[in-house]
Amino acid sequence: MDKCVFGLIDAEAQRQREGLELIPSENYVSKGVLEAAGSVFTNKYSEGYPNFEGLLEWDDEEIAKTILPSRRYYGGQENTDRVERLAIARACRMFKADHANVQPHSGAQANNAVYNAWLEPGDVVLGMNLGHGGHLTHGSPVTLSAKIYDFVPYGTVAETGDIDYEEMEKLAVKHQPKILLVGYSAWMKVPDFARVAEIGKKIPGCLLMADMAHVAGLIVGGVHRNPFDYGFHVVTTTTHKTLRGPRGGLILSKGVVGNPLKKPEKTLENIPTLIDRSVFPGTQGGPLMHVIAAKAVAFGEALQPEFATYVTNVVNNAAILADELDALGFHCIGGGTENHLILIDMMRSFKIDGKLMERALDRISLNLNANAIPNDTLPPFRPGGIRLGTPAITTRGLSRQEMKKIAKWMKAVADVCVKAKKEENLDKYSEELLVLREEVKRMALRFPLPSDK
Ligand code: PLP
Repeated sequence: MDKCVFGLIDAEAQRQREGLELIPSENYVSKGVLEAAGSVFTNKYSEGYPNFEGLLEWDDEEIAKTILPSRRYYGGQENTDRVERLAIARACRMFKADHANVQPHSGAQANNAVYNAWLEPGDVVLGMNLGHGGHLTHGSPVTLSAKIYDFVPYGTVAETGDIDYEEMEKLAVKHQPKILLVGYSAWMKVPDFARVAEIGKKIPGCLLMADMAHVAGLIVGGVHRNPFDYGFHVVTTTTHKTLRGPRGGLILSKGVVGNPLKKPEKTLENIPTLIDRSVFPGTQGGPLMHVIAAKAVAFGEALQPEFATYVTNVVNNAAILADELDALGFHCIGGGTENHLILIDMMRSFKIDGKLMERALDRISLNLNANAIPNDTLPPFRPGGIRLGTPAITTRGLSRQEMKKIAKWMKAVADVCVKAKKEENLDKYSEELLVLREEVKRMALRFPLPSDK
């Protein structure tokens, strides 16, 4: 055993046990997911795809026992094929999709593969302004995709926090996007997918794409609208946020499922096959079969009735936490939350920046992240807001009483920040912070990680 690395794994497990994770894009996976992710599937090269025609009519038992001729470039695929087919079938069931590609190594890879499947260099993508909650892969100039395609941003309405659908429509008519993209990393509302679809359908050849990385679990559990119910063609997501699986990406689509070894005509109907060819060999090499096995386990868990209860609790906890914070003087953007995520304007609330608050909360083992808020005047590394959410703490079993306590701890830390003014001065308040840290630890240890149970 490697003492250094395994020492760090132990230290990380202890950090997770003794603290409370409020970063809205994180979660704690089950023992099953963890074991599958650490399994011998990591030894296997499996470029290509399993044979999945007719798959959606099969049940899990049939998939797990049926061996079909493989469409891979290497031998020895009887188990990888079946585990990937299980992941695909379960993913389609979760989202009511015709097709799933479970191979993207991450959410960013999933988005890039969709762009590469549908766009030519220079084509326009209409996506949410990054400063209003969109993701880096939706057009940040630092990304490769922004060098290839032309991203045009739409924004949100300052007073309500809603998407500015009128602006979206005007921009769509003007720029004729090939992809109309709804997706976000720091937004607390539920999109009006019907309205977006209406706009997209007026543009010839426009693909309707939803990047649901943050809210995928809420969709699967039935507490958030599913874009496919409104005519969207493609949904991308990460698998490690509210979906509570291993780190990775996933692409779901509607259309005709074909053989990825044969090049199809570039039509909206053929999107499933265009996507398969774009993931491999278009943008990735060999799939991470151990992660795909872990995705299959997580998707199986998400299809259980208990998962619907879990996501209902996630949303309820977020609403309670937002209310409690609001009562203590925190200004929540959008007036609260409709999902799992809360965005707070720290400058407006307490005249302190988000980074100072993040660093001070780290000292009491409450982890969240500093985040830009709409029309932020501060720089990206020291933005004016913080972003937090309830997926991880709800997995551990925290509920109403604990949300109230967390809000009170956050207020106590904000008070320290107001006095300290700067990070360098936080040491002066270390005794005060230590008392809070012990309180957080006592609560955290009452709610074990799922992998410790
Ligand atoms: N899309 C959205 C909306 C996200 O929030 C994220 C991650 O935060 C991604 C894509 C990228 O996912 P990954 O970090 O797995 O590449």
